[in-house]
Amino acid sequence: MNRTRIVCTIGPRSLPEPALLALREAGMNVARLNGSHADLDWHRHAIAEVRRVLPEVPILLDIPGRKIRTTQLEHEPSFELGDEIILTTEPDHDGSAKVPVNYPDLHTDLEAGHIVLADDGTLRFTVLRVDGRDIVCRAETAGQLRSRKGINVPFVKLNTPSVTPRDEAMIAFARETGVDFIGLSFVESADQIRQFRDLIGETSPRIVAKVENQGGMDNVQEIAEAADAIMVDRGDLSVETSLHDVALRQKRIIEAARRHGRPVIIATEMLHTMIQNSFPTKAEVSDISNAVLDGCAATMLSGETAIGDFPEEAVRLMREVSEAAETHAQDLLDADAPEIGDSVPEVMSRVIPMMCRALPITRIVAITRSGFAARMIAAGRPRQPIIAVSDDIAAARSFNLIAGTMGVHSNVPFPKSSMDHFGLVLEMLWQRNFLDESDLVLTTGVTYPYPGNRMNSVQVNRISELVASLGWERASE
Ligand code: ATP
Ligand code: MG
Ligand code: MG
Repeated sequence: MNRTRIVCTIGPRSLPEPALLALREAGMNVARLNGSHADLDWHRHAIAEVRRVLPEVPILLDIPGRKIRTTQLEHEPSFELGDEIILTTEPDHDGSAKVPVNYPDLHTDLEAGHIVLADDGTLRFTVLRVDGRDIVCRAETAGQLRSRKGINVPFVKLNTPSVTPRDEAMIAFARETGVDFIGLSFVESADQIRQFRDLIGETSPRIVAKVENQGGMDNVQEIAEAADAIMVDRGDLSVETSLHDVALRQKRIIEAARRHGRPVIIATEMLHTMIQNSFPTKAEVSDISNAVLDGCAATMLSGETAIGDFPEEAVRLMREVSEAAETHAQDLLDADAPEIGDSVPEVMSRVIPMMCRALPITRIVAITRSGFAARMIAAGRPRQPIIAVSDDIAAARSFNLIAGTMGVHSNVPFPKSSMDHFGLVLEMLWQRNFLDESDLVLTTGVTYPYPGNRMNSVQVNRISELVASLGWERASE
């Protein structure tokens, strides 16, 4: 079973209808669009196409956020180690003399000696001097600086606003086009998520918070609580923090998200070499297995499906690798699972006393004709008193022998065709003062149809909330 979801970045390579269908067939579960690349018209068309061809597939739109990038360049300069290269905050350059960046204040934040990284950290520069709006750098690596590649200055506190006008426009676009998720870059606090939530104004699109710098790591707990889902963008994360422990940070983020039940997407270079090759490296395959074993909800493909030569093969391989890892993870969990029986009533009678120790339950209500539920729960020796309710008066009387148990006869007959008697019994107990508003009650019993006549249901309710929401009234009042 394909438990681990596969997020595919849709680009020029994957947008034609046959390519979308092939990705879906290979195992794509979520389509991602990167708002930093291409223009809004392209994205509008892409969203419409995904909706038309694959209406059941949710769309995630990553918005540019605070990521600094080079602009669209006519000329993408190549350079050798030691060459001088000029970044500028003046937009009107084509890349041949100077390379413009899209953050207009970068020159005020930088000074000689600062390190500037580009393209997920694969290019490295040292600032030699800042000259007006020009940032004159020395290349510390040979390479090529391409259009719309990310620029990171991890050792400098930038004054980038947390919500840019471009973000606002993208949010309006996301709402207008009806995408399902919006990806926020460089999320560093729950507050920032709330600001975006207010801007969005509704629960949809849901927010995927990208944890990709030290600020995000520091507040990962509150981010996991406030976001709808988390993405680990290991490209920016490894550049903004450090490369050597990126796998450990991935584990910490997944652990934090798990505490809040937030799905985590693992992103960046999962099958990077498959952009050009039909076959992955062992390290890439092993990375997917480990992400699954770490407990991620989804793994993501970026360039592999957006611009790569083997998008379908990459998705299929990702699915096969993650399925194998899931099977292994499930076997480990099975081996670790406590032996608590293999029938519904048997397992329930073990689980209910555990719930009673974990939660501030004040009373247990067992709705039971024969007394089975009361006997089995009492055998687990919970601290809380058990109220055992039967619609048979003799049975109810006999329950008073069971440890910690009081038998109560219910004049509400237990129906064989509905689940209504749970509520009716609780109301009757409250009316007869066996329960009061402050009680947190665990109720168990049989809801029909259930051939075994054994407890198959459990629910936990605060009585005050039932009184308020169901409008219960006591006869004397
Ligand atoms: P991020 O930090 O958001 O991951 P990125 O620049 O690394 O940004 P990815 O979404 O990881 O971008 O995609 C990988 C590469 O695929 C991009 O650098 C870009 O070259 C290409 N790409 C992605 N989407 C598109 C698109 N819609 N049109 C053209 N190229 C695209
Ligand atoms: Mg990023
Ligand atoms: Mg990327």
